Amino acid sequence: MEKNCTFCQIISGQKPTDFLYEDETLVVFKDIRPHAPVHLLIVPKRHIRSVNDLTEEDGKVISKMIFRAREMARKAAIDRSGYKLLFNVERGGGQVIFHLHMHLIGGW
Ligand code: AMP
Ligand code: ZN
Repeated sequence: MEKNCTFCQIISGQKPTDFLYEDETLVVFKDIRPHAPVHLLIVPKRHIRSVNDLTEEDGKVISKMIFRAREMARKAAIDRSGYKLLFNVERGGGQVIFHLHMHLIGGW
């Protein structure tokens, strides 16, 4: 938990946010500024800054994020029409919240 991290605040309940899904590893919630009809964020509970900070041991977290995104896409009925899974990495890559997250974007 990082005190000044927006996503840590969301995960700890300090910043009330509706979760579409939650388990011991991750949460899923709607992006506050959606870029598409479906725009969800898949966010690990543990504070990891970015893809650059992942270690071999985090492989399980990443695979859980991808499988959960796929399931959320299926639930939103955009699995067949298609969607994007996106990691912005550091400032030059468009990352503004430095707590690892994957965007699930689709439904156009
Ligand atoms: P990124 O540019 O990959 O760091 O994306 C961060 C995303 O978090 C942006 O798409 C923001 O719209 C979204 N965001 C920021 N604050 C919140 C919040 N409180 N609840 C939901 N989404 C948020
Ligand atoms: Zn955090």
